[in-house]
Amino acid sequence: MTTAHDPELTKAADDVNGSGPPVMLPEPEGAIAEAQAGGRPMIVFDAVKKVYEPNVVALEDVSLTIDKGEFVFLVGPSGSGKSTMVRLLIKELEPTSGRIIIGGRELGRLKKKLVPILRRNIGCVFQDFKLLPNRTAFENIAYALKVQGESSAAIRSKVPEVLALVGLSHKGASYPDELSGGEQQRVSIARAFVNHPPLLICDEPTGNLDPDTSVGIMQLLYRINQTGTTVVMATHDREMVDKMRRRVIALEDGHLMRDERRGGYVNR
Ligand code: ADP
Repeated sequence: MTTAHDPELTKAADDVNGSGPPVMLPEPEGAIAEAQAGGRPMIVFDAVKKVYEPNVVALEDVSLTIDKGEFVFLVGPSGSGKSTMVRLLIKELEPTSGRIIIGGRELGRLKKKLVPILRRNIGCVFQDFKLLPNRTAFENIAYALKVQGESSAAIRSKVPEVLALVGLSHKGASYPDELSGGEQQRVSIARAFVNHPPLLICDEPTGNLDPDTSVGIMQLLYRINQTGTTVVMATHDREMVDKMRRRVIALEDGHLMRDERRGGYVNR
């Protein structure tokens, strides 16, 4: 049975067009934004293969295109290659063969000095939040901006704005251990989105959260997608994937098994 018309998520869609806090479009910056303006695909995998030493084939001949503005689920059992895809996208890993193109730029040819710009244009959200425990929610987001060389004035204006966007204006002074799991994930999404990157990559963002909290996180990611940001989300969360009826790319043993425009977690 599918739950395509889940009232919670329908409401999320309505909220996006309604009275929620304003969401700014990403500022044009770097190769990805250029590509957005030109209407090129956001992500291209061209016959990508990844073999870990000595001989673990994590991805085999994966080819796909993700257009700007899409919301894509990446699904598959543990060990199917999802995290490898995510790590290739942020150039934390290099493919063994094949090409990866993001925003019109082939990552294999990207000059070293441009890698920080690539990373600044890709927000990342992880299952375990990766927040600094000895810093407040505000400071966690501010720290990410500082590392990128942002001015104090920019930090003072951007952090409250993004905290409001994720519904945590009142929690800026809280430390991670004073926040619920869902709130911690909101802070980590705020940190990933504070510069309004054109691409947001989420690796199991609801993996540590209960179903109700996960719905709230999905609503937030949906709203971020509605601002024009491309969202790629690796997940095990079958129920969520089935509810959202978005594009589903399914991996199995490193092979691309399925690519459906409005899919569910498994073939029906
Ligand atoms: P998923 O995210 O879907 O669980 P992964 O991309 O983490 O899958 O893993 C794909 C395959 O690659 C698995 O067989 C895994 O054991 C292997 N693998 C992942 N990372 C490494 C690594 N650093 N060294 C060797 N093998 C790895």
